[in-house]
Amino acid sequence: MAEQPAQGVAANEQTNNPVNDEISAEDQAAIEAAMAEEGAPQAKSLKCVDCGKLFKNADLANYHAEKSGHENFEESTEEVLIFIS
Ligand SMILES: [Zn+2]
Repeated sequence: MAEQPAQGVAANEQTNNPVNDEISAEDQAAIEAAMAEEGAPQAKSLKCVDCGKLFKNADLANYHAEKSGHENFEESTEEVLIFIS
């Protein structure tokens, strides 16, 4: 019978794969986008702070601003249910 050499210390060569903790800028952006989407509901409308009217998009809000002289708009999560002519 052949003598097997003891293999005690030999096999400790496996380098622990260093986990690559670096997150690429692309991943980071995707993560942030996903988190932002969960955290803050998307604005569905623009609201004129001056008179409280809701507008479906920036064009309508701009139109209102020009006509009324109102300047303060904020994003709103309220849906626009009525059309303002
Ligand atoms: Zn207004």
